[in-house]
Amino acid sequence: MPDSPTGRAHDVVLRHIEDSLHSGALKLGDRLPGERALAEQFGISRASVRDAIRTLEVMGVVRSATGSGPNSGTIVVSDPSSALGVALRMHVASHHLPLKDVVEARMMMETWSLEHAASVPWTPEQLNDARLLLEAMDDDALPSQIFTLLDTQFHVALSALAGNVVVSTMMESMREAIRGYIDDAVARRGTWDEVVPTLREHHRGIFEAVEAREGERAARLVREHIEWFYRQAL
Ligand SMILES: [Zn+2]
Repeated sequence: MPDSPTGRAHDVVLRHIEDSLHSGALKLGDRLPGERALAEQFGISRASVRDAIRTLEVMGVVRSATGSGPNSGTIVVSDPSSALGVALRMHVASHHLPLKDVVEARMMMETWSLEHAASVPWTPEQLNDARLLLEAMDDDALPSQIFTLLDTQFHVALSALAGNVVVSTMMESMREAIRGYIDDAVARRGTWDEVVPTLREHHRGIFEAVEAREGERAARLVREHIEWFYRQAL
């Protein structure tokens, strides 16, 4: 038998860390005990501990910092969208998640977010990210792949105004999957120069409706924008 850590051994560490986060014994920014201490505490091999920490890292729960000093060790962080994002992208790539379903889910979350953002007391500064992205997309020299990166960031930034952390995390996770289908469509059809002016016009309309706190209009415009692009992508 290969000397690999069993799933069970590393599950013990994962479960312990989950419980500690839940109880508040472990908080964001805290450092995990060292590999040896954890191995002794649970009576498992250091390889199993390493495996557990690697899993947590992929899930966006901890970050390993090398070196010595106050910033070294394994630190509890929070980046829930990183793991979801990788998983979604992979499953879309393998065609297990149909594009139609990704687009529908995106539609559901964005229309909900923009409608609700109208009644959330966000500050003008919070709208600034979206405004900067909007302005950046006016640059005619932008390669299409940079434009689509900014485009998806723009949608994430606007949706975040609704203040729902779960929806924001899911939107952030879907970003790469969404960008993937946009880039594919652009590469396949080669009609980028024709679609860019329409995308800019849509974005400006959506932004203005959000800024004016016209939730219904913002939701309708973002729905039309997503539907329009999806038709180009088919
Ligand atoms: Zn867009």
